[in-house]
Amino acid sequence: MSENPLRTPTLLSVVAPVYDEEELIEQFVARATAAVADYEFELVLVNDGSHDSTPEKLDRLAAADPRVRVIHLSRNFGHQAALTAGLEHAVGDVVAMIDADLQDPPELIPEMVAQWSQGADVVYAVRKEREGETAFKLATASWFYKLFDKLAQVDLEPNSGDFRLLDRRALDALLAMTERSRFLRGMTVWVGFNQTAVAYQRDARHAGETKYTLRRMLRFSLDAIASFSHLPLQLATYAGILSAGVAFVAIPVVIALRIADSYLPGFGSITIAILLLGGIQLIAIGVIGEYVGRIYDEVKHRPLYIVREERNRPTSTSRFVSPPATRAGLPARTPERIS
Ligand code: UDP
Ligand code: MG
Repeated sequence: MSENPLRTPTLLSVVAPVYDEEELIEQFVARATAAVADYEFELVLVNDGSHDSTPEKLDRLAAADPRVRVIHLSRNFGHQAALTAGLEHAVGDVVAMIDADLQDPPELIPEMVAQWSQGADVVYAVRKEREGETAFKLATASWFYKLFDKLAQVDLEPNSGDFRLLDRRALDALLAMTERSRFLRGMTVWVGFNQTAVAYQRDARHAGETKYTLRRMLRFSLDAIASFSHLPLQLATYAGILSAGVAFVAIPVVIALRIADSYLPGFGSITIAILLLGGIQLIAIGVIGEYVGRIYDEVKHRPLYIVREERNRPTSTSRFVSPPATRAGLPARTPERIS
């Protein structure tokens, strides 16, 4: 437990990625601002290359309230990269991450802060119910969590999304993980520390549409599994051992049949064997390819995102707790060097 049982945040950062959310961004900022009004706070909104009127609306919100910070990325980099951008720019000693579409109620943040005050370093919100989501999304999400649980070495609570609150220590540990395929909810579990859950009801999206198409969801799941498990690679080895074992058993059987002079048409069985082995080999090559592709992405060492413009950037002399440049364990490519 913490050495300081009832701590209060010096500065609370609320980080939200925003992509084409013109219908509800103002409502989100109003609700989030009201929800954390009792704290010193900053709202870090990352515009992930929106194509609608979101950027202008964000600029107006930032002009109206200096606590609203806006980071415009140079294009759409995707949800997890945008979230990472926000986390790297946040300067609070307590940082909450939340979706901007109001599916996660900002009103829950004080409850999460209360858990932090009692010594939790990572507070994750678990969805009790998920409203307004299709049966297909619920089913695929539940399969994904089951599969991830089987394959990966981190215990990810099912139905916990990216709605989380992190202590600065846990956040710095998270930001020291420089991998490119980012599955942030798994990574926040991986860092350890005191983890606590709070339950909530996930609302339907207030307006607009989900930005996660089936293809993106599939990519996201593959990324998640590949970055937390080597089991798919090992499965290829097991399949190879199994089929080689079958072949070794088959050899004496074939010889025995030859000696007994039984008629062996052979064609069908050979075809089946070739197809089966060919299939296994192609799958194995595909699995290796998934990992090699990720290794390639890693060694290229490109920045995860590029900042085009920033509004209400805190100055080094301001009240903020731990300026990004002085954070321990940060990778060489910090956003400050990119922007
Ligand atoms: N988002 C983003 N970049 C993207 C896709 C989504 O910043 O490429 C944001 C989006 O604006 C929202 C959050 O990420 O605030 C979650 O996205 P969404 O609601 O579409 O996902 P879902 O809740 O359907 O999983
Ligand atoms: Mg959503």
